Amino acid sequence: MKFKFLHPRDEIIEIINRIYMNGMTTTSGGNLSILDDDGSIWITPKGVDKGTLAPSDIIRVFSDGKHEGIHEPSSEFPFHLAIYKARPDIKAIVHAHPPALVSFAITRKIPDTHIIPKASEICGKVGYAKYALPGSDKLGKVIADIFKNGHETVLMENHGIVTVGNSLMHAFQRLETLDFCARLTLKANILGKVKVLSKRELELSRKGFLLGTFKHSHPSSNEKDIRKRMITLIRRSYDQNLFTSLEGTFSARISGNEFLITPFGMDRKYLNVEDLVLIKNGKKEIGTTPSRSVKLHIALYKKNPDLNAIIIAHPPNILAFGVSGVKFDSRTIPESFLVLRDIPILPYGLEFNYGDKTGNRLTGIISEKTPIVICENSCVIVTGNSLLQSYDRLEVAEFSAKSVIASKAIGEIVPIGKFEIDELEKAFDL
Ligand SMILES: [Zn+2]
Repeated sequence: MKFKFLHPRDEIIEIINRIYMNGMTTTSGGNLSILDDDGSIWITPKGVDKGTLAPSDIIRVFSDGKHEGIHEPSSEFPFHLAIYKARPDIKAIVHAHPPALVSFAITRKIPDTHIIPKASEICGKVGYAKYALPGSDKLGKVIADIFKNGHETVLMENHGIVTVGNSLMHAFQRLETLDFCARLTLKANILGKVKVLSKRELELSRKGFLLGTFKHSHPSSNEKDIRKRMITLIRRSYDQNLFTSLEGTFSARISGNEFLITPFGMDRKYLNVEDLVLIKNGKKEIGTTPSRSVKLHIALYKKNPDLNAIIIAHPPNILAFGVSGVKFDSRTIPESFLVLRDIPILPYGLEFNYGDKTGNRLTGIISEKTPIVICENSCVIVTGNSLLQSYDRLEVAEFSAKSVIASKAIGEIVPIGKFEIDELEKAFDL
């Protein structure tokens, strides 16, 4: 979907639906706005159900203060106006009360975006606004002053979050990423102590890649079939909170040295079959930009001939183990042990270094007996002999991790015993 061709009314509806469906706002909470070229502001209405908003519900407020539309503009219009006045570069604003970020707002803490790569780049500087009455000019001034200081995201004390951007999608991606950091931190803290990445460690993730190119002219029917199945699972990964709009890599082997991979920087929710990038003999299809981890995929396929699909994801429950460094034990229920086996946590940075000694360490660890690894403060790498097997492993890993974290509220986990594990291994020929 090309957002730049959407009318502001439609853009607001598209994003509010994503926020609502992702559980980041209630029907009454939160508001969104877009600054138009003529200085007027398109904004969500006051007191209308966020679950059923239509483009015709969106209000346009002109620079003289008059408004057009069938409702009143949001009661938080004053702070939207104050922000646009304070920072002319801002073209869109999102305000919401996502539960994880509200946990930070009510304990009066700012989520740290340095717990995973890229989050601090996406979110920018996170500021903190002292409490003020909702809808008041005072609240507008407090928030606008913080944005004026160069912050891109502001946590509102005992209230919620405001993010801004050069487009509504940009502001949404900041909200989504900061909310992800908040959820990850909450979960990791239940398990142990959260590790924060240093500047030098964050630099590692920015390593670029160079690939030769080739002209792709005639896709086979097998390739078309794989493209279709990949898109179905990528969209499902987004809907199941296994991927975020910008994070999540999926690849599938077509044959030999030929595989398809997700593109870099494109919204996972709207990916289409033609957006997937073909890699052949270590080269990319001309005019395309594959995911940044493409060289790791090339190395893994080369090393493991039976491997046919790889997913690199950031689901908050399983990644909480990678951020706290607490070992994940899959001996919870038979399904988890059979599907996941032993999941090691690898030291941060191995996933960015391939082709050298450390990179060979990672490709050497992943095998049929160790199909999943957690990369410290970074991601989960899931492999399988088919698209569905890799996807299932990712889902089972996330579900199992969720149960382990939730169980902390009621008592100690009792893992399946050695006798039962031996019995499972014999019965399933592991
Ligand atoms: Zn609010």
